[in-house]
Amino acid sequence: MIGFSLTDEQRALQELARDFAQNEIAPMAPELDRTGQYPYALLKQAHSLGLLNVTIEEEYGGGGLGWIESSLVGEELAAACAGVTTAANANELALTPLHLAASEEQKRKFISPIAKEGGFAAFCVTEPGAGSDVVSMRTRATKKGSEYILNGTKHFITNGDVAHLLTVFAVTDPEKKHRGLSLFAVPADLPGITRHHMGEKMGHRASDTAEIVFEDVHVPAENLLGQEGDGFRVAMETFDRTRIGIGAAGVGIARAALEASIKFAKERQQFGQPIASFEGVQFMLADMAVKIDTARLAVWFAAWQVDEKLPYAYASAIAKAYGSDVAMQVATDAVQIHGGYGYMADYKVEKYMRDAKLLQIYEGTNQIQRLIVAKALLKEK
Ligand SMILES: Cc1cc2nc3c(=O)[nH]c(=O)nc-3n(C[C@H](O)[C@H](O)[C@H](O)COP(=O)(O)OP(=O)(O)OC[C@H]3O[C@@H](n4cnc5c(N)ncnc54)[C@H](O)[C@@H]3O)c2cc1C
Repeated sequence: MIGFSLTDEQRALQELARDFAQNEIAPMAPELDRTGQYPYALLKQAHSLGLLNVTIEEEYGGGGLGWIESSLVGEELAAACAGVTTAANANELALTPLHLAASEEQKRKFISPIAKEGGFAAFCVTEPGAGSDVVSMRTRATKKGSEYILNGTKHFITNGDVAHLLTVFAVTDPEKKHRGLSLFAVPADLPGITRHHMGEKMGHRASDTAEIVFEDVHVPAENLLGQEGDGFRVAMETFDRTRIGIGAAGVGIARAALEASIKFAKERQQFGQPIASFEGVQFMLADMAVKIDTARLAVWFAAWQVDEKLPYAYASAIAKAYGSDVAMQVATDAVQIHGGYGYMADYKVEKYMRDAKLLQIYEGTNQIQRLIVAKALLKEK
């Protein structure tokens, strides 16, 4: 059975997210973009409204909802400010490995303080020498008695500087390659951890991006999530879910860019008439809408696959790659429709264009998403 209508609860959540995004986030977005301030107050509000950690179990403080709901919220937040959305999504990204691999006791211990009390978490995979090639990571966790000793450097970590909890992926057995990666819940205040804010970014400036250095950090063995060797599988399963959120953010940015373009095209007069009366502009607006509506379907389909417990890696790679490509294309066209004004910071569309770019890069670049799609296509049946 195929249905595209939202339930009353889903519509109510969408409206709640839209009201909060447009009334609270949108007015702050230009200043956060200019100053790079971390949006503590907005995230606190989002947490109290139930707009954070949407897919994490309710008993540990999450929303207990599905990826459709998470996508609805993500689109609304990103239509107001992608930077705030990235900061918000970072929690779900960091808590999903615990949701997938932690024991009940670990969930109570590590997820609850974040999800119930509005704390922050960060997902730590990427290293200076290991980006797309996750398996080449060098951070080591060496077992010594009842502890693991953690050494290494993670970088480009969203929420890295503000997080209370770090979900850290490290090598426990270098001989076993991807089966030699493990994951740990690491309180961010353990001795031996230093964190540095990484320089200025093109966009998403309201989010925090940090480098984290682990020097002989003693992590209790009970902080190992799942079994030794589970790290790669859990990281990939996490991305297969959270990438849907990147697609949803792409739809949000693109929608905002289209709305701004329609308004501008109706107001801007050239050759004695609004530029919206020119077919060349109308076709651009129509193409933007075609892309946004198809991207939203791709996102909802992938989210539905997860919620229905169907295989979702292929659909989520498409949702991420297509949703973020659409955001980039639509934001670029929005700048074009605005002409010279589109290039100026006073108009919102140049921010949309800067923000869209990151969606094509993080949580697996769009080249990596295409590899996932191609691998599925070429697999022997
Ligand atoms: C603002 C920001 C926030 C981030 N947040 C986090 C976070 O919270 N946690 C975290 O762990 N990481 C995070 N990242 C890291 C992000 O996921 C990586 O930047 C991304 O995976 C790409 O890795 P890389 O930058 O090392 O690029 P590389 O892997 O070096 O890639 C460089 C180029 O080569 C291409 N390429 C690489 N391999 C292939 C291939 N096999 N086939 C075709 N093309 C290929 C890539 O597509 C890309 O175009 C963040 C990054 C940024 C910029």
